[in-house]
Amino acid sequence: MTCKELVELITDYLEGTLPPSDRKRFREHLMVCPECRIYLVQMRRIVGALGRLTEEAIPEGTREDLLQAFRDWRRRPER
Ligand SMILES: [Zn+2]
Repeated sequence: MTCKELVELITDYLEGTLPPSDRKRFREHLMVCPECRIYLVQMRRIVGALGRLTEEAIPEGTREDLLQAFRDWRRRPER
């Protein structure tokens, strides 16, 4: 798995909807890639913070916007 793949699968991973085979590859990449481990921690924090807000406190589309913003942020240092 590449960093780009991991970023694309991270929301599925956090939501627990990633198939077991991808989950295994996801974890294997985390073991060899400190950058993605940091990224995962930051994503967990954001998803966790959003989960604590009530639905009416989250404007339409905000969650997706935030997740998209983080995907874009991670894509910048392409390798
Ligand atoms: Zn990585």
